[in-house]
Amino acid sequence: MRARHLYQRARRQGFAIGAFNIDNQETLIAVARAAQKLRSPVLVEVSSGEVKAIGLENIRDMVDNYKQEYGIEMYINLDHSPTVDDCKRAIDAGFEFIHIDISQENHDAGLKEIIEKTKEVVEYAKFTGALVESEPHYFGGSSNLHDEKIDFEAIKKTFSTPDDAKYFCESTGIDTFAAAVGNLHGKYPVPKQLDLELLQNIRDELDCHISLHGGSGTPLHYFEEAAKIGVSKININSDMRIAFRNTLEKVLKDNPDEFAVVKLMPTVYKEVQKVVEEKIKAFGSEGKAVV
Ligand SMILES: [Zn+2]
Repeated sequence: MRARHLYQRARRQGFAIGAFNIDNQETLIAVARAAQKLRSPVLVEVSSGEVKAIGLENIRDMVDNYKQEYGIEMYINLDHSPTVDDCKRAIDAGFEFIHIDISQENHDAGLKEIIEKTKEVVEYAKFTGALVESEPHYFGGSSNLHDEKIDFEAIKKTFSTPDDAKYFCESTGIDTFAAAVGNLHGKYPVPKQLDLELLQNIRDELDCHISLHGGSGTPLHYFEEAAKIGVSKININSDMRIAFRNTLEKVLKDNPDEFAVVKLMPTVYKEVQKVVEEKIKAFGSEGKAVV
């Protein structure tokens, strides 16, 4: 209920909520501290690899503990779940947001199969009221640093269209449509470009909420405009990972005699926190938390 209410507030007040991937406790602390400082609602999200690393129940408990400790509005999203069973387990564990992505495991999965399996998750999510997100085809890129340039013409062929988006939302009953309008997973040597006119056309056509994946390496003005158009959720991963790794490498190099690495971690999570804060400000969610 509270998660649904958050999406309604986002639409009405014209802000987007950041969904920040975590694969360790320090990154969760970075997100929680940014949320507290800017009084912003946040989602933390975990992909299947990140679930394996931390554990489904551990994630639920850690998020609940930090939520209470910091007095913040924070939810969990299961990010890019390749199977219906994984989605059901996360729903059972009380995740408020579920992203089912059949084409993640099989890039050639047909629309019929994707719709059928997405519907199964939508039905199951009714038990808890979790919000379900999906998309009709494979979404490009990967959450990493890419050397290659972006082939904008090739990517345009994978863009969502308003008609396809509408058909997909209506045939599955999903809450959130993951739109492809120039957003790509990962970080590239050139800035990303979002087709905001297309995004507006999709927004006008759909009743459901819209998410943008692959937010890293995107000029911030695109986020400000996307939030005003009515995007509810923007996923951020690579920019945080880059800050984490670069800072970790630096503090390890600067402190060759320190073997209690835990003592070096505050420097690391403070740099990740800066990334989260920068995105929150661009998404317009600062000061929007209800706790
Ligand atoms: Zn994604």
